Amino acid sequence: MSTQALSEFPNHNPATGEVIDNHHNSSQSDVDAAVARAHDSKRAWVALGFDGRKKVLNAWNSIITKRLDELAELVALETGKPISDAALEISLAVGHLSWAAKHAQRYLSPVKRNPGLLMANMKARIERAPYGVVGVIGPWNYPVFTPMGSIAYSLAAGNTIIFKPSEYTPGVGKWLGATFAEVAPFPDIFQVLTGLGTTGAALTQSAVDKIAFTGSTRTAKRVATSAAERMIPVVLECGGKDPVIIDRDANIKKAAEYALWMAMSNAGQTCIGAERVYIHTAVADEFIREIGTMARELHPGVNKSYGPATMPSQLNIIQSHIDDAAAKGAKFLVGGTDSVQPPFVQPTIMLDVSEDSLAITEETFGPTLTINRVQDMVEAVRLANATRYGLGASVWSKGNGEKIASQLVTGMVSINSVIGFAGIASLPFGGVKESGYGRIHGPKVSMNLPIYDQ
Ligand code: NDP
Repeated sequence: MSTQALSEFPNHNPATGEVIDNHHNSSQSDVDAAVARAHDSKRAWVALGFDGRKKVLNAWNSIITKRLDELAELVALETGKPISDAALEISLAVGHLSWAAKHAQRYLSPVKRNPGLLMANMKARIERAPYGVVGVIGPWNYPVFTPMGSIAYSLAAGNTIIFKPSEYTPGVGKWLGATFAEVAPFPDIFQVLTGLGTTGAALTQSAVDKIAFTGSTRTAKRVATSAAERMIPVVLECGGKDPVIIDRDANIKKAAEYALWMAMSNAGQTCIGAERVYIHTAVADEFIREIGTMARELHPGVNKSYGPATMPSQLNIIQSHIDDAAAKGAKFLVGGTDSVQPPFVQPTIMLDVSEDSLAITEETFGPTLTINRVQDMVEAVRLANATRYGLGASVWSKGNGEKIASQLVTGMVSINSVIGFAGIASLPFGGVKESGYGRIHGPKVSMNLPIYDQ
């Protein structure tokens, strides 16, 4: 039986395997009907103007903030992450929603351009119109924060939305839809359609005007193919293999602490999580000692350091990356080939990992980290750039941070910190190479550009 034939699907508590709830598996006709309703409602949503939409989005934000504990419990239940991590994720999402509501008018209002000497008798300006209906396809690792990066900004700009949450976190998606409905001035501005991958595929083939997708590079290519057939734009936020580059003048203790957090938090299921460390050989021993000591204090479990793998099939991928690295000569600082203990994975840090092993070339999406020594930062940059991904990166150096960062082929870099860019709403977020294209969050264009008035 095809998955499309199923009218319902269950989702499970990843820590216990117990069924949480059953959800509607939306069909192509469900999707098409929702998209048609979204087209009907878009004119009224645009007509509300920036101020009107801001009021609605702020009211929604108040509900999310007031009921943050309730949403955090649901996120923790469906993903397995600790409640404190879920609360942090929601707080970041609230920040983005607030920023989008507040700043949409400033960044999307018409901009005057200098017509130039030859056309000096003309007036020139750029107007930005909403796309219409935006289809948002979300992942399960950050089921509030990640889709909110598209939902909040698209709504603020005047688009209506169809959101297809991951089949692992449908309850969170429904919660977002239901709370928005409490403040919506009329229906069908923000609709949530639960379903399996086939529902996501149906959305890409429907009459939406733009798709915002977050998930694997493999599925992103399918989404892009569908979008190309319909000639609609897409934003693709895909996987990463983010490097942490540490120079000999770095604050080693801090670098170890942050790299560990970036690698292990959310059980390593973070697209911008640390997966590889390249460290100057002069400070490698100190770093390895520090990170090893701290990593041994981490223990996965329910509401412990981090939770289980949310998606059970990921455990096989994590095991295969660890086995492959071990077979190619990697040494284990923490953990080993027995680290995968379903549904949890013990913290695993591998040293001297062959650059052609899966743990270096492919996204692991688990609480694992490779550490390789380099002779200098030229070698670090070369190895960091050698994967097919280019999402985020972290650089640690007191004197050379910006110089090293500027040589990385990647979408975003933190210097002497990790993943800070994700929480700064005014920064655009996204990758290059097979990590995707297009940007979510803040605008790419600076508003400091000269604006010429006639
Ligand atoms: P997918 O890319 O398969 O899923 C992401 C979203 O796309 C889900 O909502 C999914 O629905 C939907 N989807 C699935 N198939 C299609 C399709 N043909 N057309 C449109 N939408 C579709 O990722 P997985 O959840 O299976 O995770 C696989 C890997 O992806 C992970 O191992 C990890 O490496 C990476 N990943 C990266 C993320 C990131 O933040 N960049 C987030 C999540 C995963 P459904 O869940 O119902 O299948």
